[in-house]
Amino acid sequence: MKIAVISDIHGNLEALTACLESIKEIENLDYIAALGDIVGYGADPLECIKLVQNNADFCIKGNHDSAVIGAIDVYTFNMYARSASIWTAEQLSKNEKDYLNALPYSIEKDEFLFVHSSPGNPEKWKYIFRAADADKEFDNFDNYICFVGHSHLPGIYSTKGKLDHKKGPVKLDTSVRYIINVGSVGQPRDGDPRLSYGLFDQENNTFEIIRLKYDIKTAREKIIKTGLMEYLGDRLLAGR
Ligand code: ZN
Repeated sequence: MKIAVISDIHGNLEALTACLESIKEIENLDYIAALGDIVGYGADPLECIKLVQNNADFCIKGNHDSAVIGAIDVYTFNMYARSASIWTAEQLSKNEKDYLNALPYSIEKDEFLFVHSSPGNPEKWKYIFRAADADKEFDNFDNYICFVGHSHLPGIYSTKGKLDHKKGPVKLDTSVRYIINVGSVGQPRDGDPRLSYGLFDQENNTFEIIRLKYDIKTAREKIIKTGLMEYLGDRLLAGR
């Protein structure tokens, strides 16, 4: 069994298209899990929702998905997220908003838990940035692996500490449990502008953070052309 896990697409159609093309090449893939924040920041929220609906087996609700349907007060967001949320909400019809509204905060499947933010209280939108944040969460679930997004920082955390994910597939250990942040498809923030997604391979018991180049130039130009803040395009170039 293999599972592709994607998260934090944020309306970046160029990144999502490149990501899905890469996933299509994976042999024996069982399903694609999406961890939310389909929209917000990028220029193509509608197209990204359609692609997730047509390609992911399920999707979790992210805080930006909640904001565009009015379930989160956008005045709790910084000015970039707020202005992007207001613009995104104007692009979506009732159909797309109903779809986002119906997304669950978490899904348990096989021995996995899928959430957007953190396993304890997914609707509180707590961030997992580092091992100390992950350590506090292991008592909040009992599945083998909890997959998260939200911080846009890829990381593989076990009950024994953080593992190095930068050198290809990481061998997992079935005697410990994991919180795995798959990073962001549409707005990476770890200083590497390439899109990020995750691949779990059950047969080999490995997890790989996959990084891929995509057409950042077009994604950035579209953001600027639509009237979204220029910074939202520029940050894609820096991966910050
Ligand atoms: Zn996000």
